[in-house]
Amino acid sequence: MDRVTCTGCSLLCDDIIIRTDGLYIDEIIGACLKGKERFDQITAKNRIINPFIRKNGELEKVSWDEAFEKVLTIMKTSSKPLLYGFSNSSCEAQLKGIRLAKKIDGFIDSNSTICQGKTLNISRDSGMTLTTISEIINNVDTLILWGLNAAESIPRLLNKTLFTRGKFRMTGREIKTLIIVDPVKSSSFGVMGPRDLALFIEPNRDLELIKILKDECCTADSIPSGGGAGLDESDIRRMLQHLQGAENAVIFVGQGILTTQGNENALKELLELIELVNIQQKKGRISLVMVGGHYNMAGFDHVALTETGKNQNLQFKNNQIIKSNDTIISKIKNEDFDYTIIVGTDPISHLPHQLSSKLASKPIILIDNRKSGISQLADVVLPTAITGIECAGLAYRLDQVPIELKKLVNPPNNVPSDEELLDQIIERLSKK
Ligand code: SF4
Repeated sequence: MDRVTCTGCSLLCDDIIIRTDGLYIDEIIGACLKGKERFDQITAKNRIINPFIRKNGELEKVSWDEAFEKVLTIMKTSSKPLLYGFSNSSCEAQLKGIRLAKKIDGFIDSNSTICQGKTLNISRDSGMTLTTISEIINNVDTLILWGLNAAESIPRLLNKTLFTRGKFRMTGREIKTLIIVDPVKSSSFGVMGPRDLALFIEPNRDLELIKILKDECCTADSIPSGGGAGLDESDIRRMLQHLQGAENAVIFVGQGILTTQGNENALKELLELIELVNIQQKKGRISLVMVGGHYNMAGFDHVALTETGKNQNLQFKNNQIIKSNDTIISKIKNEDFDYTIIVGTDPISHLPHQLSSKLASKPIILIDNRKSGISQLADVVLPTAITGIECAGLAYRLDQVPIELKKLVNPPNNVPSDEELLDQIIERLSKK
């Protein structure tokens, strides 16, 4: 039996026990359903283990040489590549992706750009108070899920942080308070107890709630008598009392607040609210955790920052990074690209139709281990190994802690890792 890390989501649980003969994983203990699915991906029906090229409208199985030839032809006959994804790849592969973008004068971005990367950008001037999972287990007495359905997106997050006992939280769940701010009664509400606080905010009114809380922090009794953001005055007051009275609180920032209207303002105001409460706090502090879904979404920001000084929207020209105000969205919207390289993601399922149809109108090179919406539209499909199962690598957990991922079994058909594949493309490009 081996103790391994699960790459099913950004929590990167490192307490999973498996039994393997080096070819297959026979037993998995401790993973949630989502994690088990990740291990089962090795032999899943939608697994890709051969390269494909689109011929006469149909994807046809081809040799690696033919697939690489097609990739190089697309690259040589086009000049505005767009590289996107990389949140389900190791940091090593992300680095290779950035180096490839540099070599072909491309624009590269990860899924983080439409997720937690927004928080990172906003905090650039003011900074933010972060924390780690261990700190949360040991110290936190108030947990706030803001626009996050943890029970489904990060299934073991609450097991690890709400239901555990820590060094300074020996009584565990009994002394911990859970606050959920969400317009939808998600499955996470199912774990709420009598001392917890459920705030069913009206959609897209997060900014209003944060401003009311900030005002009340500065001037007592300023909460409007009719409440705000669809919440009662008493509930808003209770929330602030919890924030100010907590010894240590953590706010898990989810997609709900990231995708709300005027999200950048809401995030900026939220960071300011945290700062305001922390200045007034005598006992502890409020920290924030940016919750990305994909297991190494945080990694791309770290790698890109280290390599280029920017964490997202990287535009290269003449093999140098240049200043650009573009985003992956503006690039696609303005059709400012002539082919895409997608790595380990399915933009068809998360971009609006008008954007995904523009994406599909130009050649697509897909690097992935599973069939998806985008694989049905790709011109070239290059299969790779599953990181953390069939190849090793580094990933950053949602609390920004680096975690080493191990290789557990050999990949089918000896498919390369994302890193090896990107390396081969760079090498072949250099030879041409
Ligand atoms: S919570 Fe995430 S990392 Fe942990 S077992 Fe489930 S899918 Fe894997």
